Amino acid sequence: MHSYWDKSSSAQLVIIGAGVLGLWSAIEVKRRKPSWNVVVLERYPIPRGASTRNAGFACFGSPTELWSDMHVMGEEKMIATVEMRYKGILKIKEFFENADIDLQWDGGYECINDIEQIELDKRIEVLNELLKKGLGLSGVYSNVSSRKASMHLHAFDYLVSISGEGSLHSGKYVQSLAQLAKEVGVSIFYGAHVEKWNRHTHSWKIHTNNGFEWESDQVLFATNGWLSEQIKGTEILPARGQIILTSPIERLPWKGTFHAEEGFYYWRNIDNRILLGGARNLYKQQEETNELSISQNLQETLEDFLKTKIIPDHQFDIDQRWSGIMAFSPNKTPVIAQKEEGLWYTMACNGMGVALTPIWAELVAEKITN
Ligand SMILES: Cc1cc2nc3c(=O)[nH]c(=O)nc-3n(C[C@H](O)[C@H](O)[C@H](O)COP(=O)(O)OP(=O)(O)OC[C@H]3O[C@@H](n4cnc5c(N)ncnc54)[C@H](O)[C@@H]3O)c2cc1C
Repeated sequence: MHSYWDKSSSAQLVIIGAGVLGLWSAIEVKRRKPSWNVVVLERYPIPRGASTRNAGFACFGSPTELWSDMHVMGEEKMIATVEMRYKGILKIKEFFENADIDLQWDGGYECINDIEQIELDKRIEVLNELLKKGLGLSGVYSNVSSRKASMHLHAFDYLVSISGEGSLHSGKYVQSLAQLAKEVGVSIFYGAHVEKWNRHTHSWKIHTNNGFEWESDQVLFATNGWLSEQIKGTEILPARGQIILTSPIERLPWKGTFHAEEGFYYWRNIDNRILLGGARNLYKQQEETNELSISQNLQETLEDFLKTKIIPDHQFDIDQRWSGIMAFSPNKTPVIAQKEEGLWYTMACNGMGVALTPIWAELVAEKITN
């Protein structure tokens, strides 16, 4: 029970989930409706889904990923998603100082095998033309395979550079975003695990596990990997992503963000360590879960990839292992939908929420405030 003094329990919008999508959506709604009481409820002291557990790539797509997306979602949707991600990176740069979120521009790359050079160069040309036509960007991808040797990337046939890709510190980014949300007047409550929601005449009553209750005109679920168990019929599936982090490695022969195998493997440098994630495609059914644990078979696959392909000639230990939960829609496009009057859900991410959410949240806010 709230006391008479606590006016935060009545809101125009309650958002469930304080990951990057919940927070950006709250900020964008508040910017459009300054008089609204916008409340974010997060079940844990620190958001615990994908946003604080990811790899921190500020990326808009590697060439093989976009090539595959073009065949899954079609050329137009692929370019529209890339545009959102590209503009999302620009928006992050506009709102935050590089130093506050450790935003770094050390170069983005994709390591590629199993393709003829002539076919690779053709694909690079097609994608560059599409990005030039659609977004006005020049020479986004270039074949820089001559740099492979100095980076000790002998296991790969080709190296393609991606201009405009960066990396950030995911923990600092979520903290800075929460700070920004508070500055624009959003109320965020941590330790508020939403368990029930019921429709009452013209509003929604939202109940948390510790006996608190909010009454709100509208509710937005931004719970990502937990959406499918909270809202029936969304067709959104959870997907666990696992990560390993090495001990510091002396004379690491490269810096930057790297993708391989259509983005199913990704790695980067952080404080002279390597952070590597992926291999989910090899254990698809097993990883279609929102259980925040790790599995031995996938962890061994990651370690093997690291030792044989990325850094075969250096000594290191694995210092940390963890997982986070992504969510995927059937055609890899973001979702905003109204399930019942005033009850919305959104999912932007399909494994690329860092760059996508700042702009996707603008669309979410437009829908909710109109
Ligand atoms: C291992 C891994 C690596 C990734 N790497 C990258 C990357 O490098 N670049 C990139 O762009 N994207 C990456 N992603 C994807 C990116 O992290 C996500 O797309 C993005 O963080 C999703 O944000 P979100 O706010 O939608 O969801 P989340 O961050 O998952 O937030 C959902 C929140 O809802 C809360 N919640 C759930 N149920 C309830 C409830 N009942 N009551 C209250 N709160 C609730 C959860 O605790 C959680 O904090 C990665 C993801 C993973 C898992």
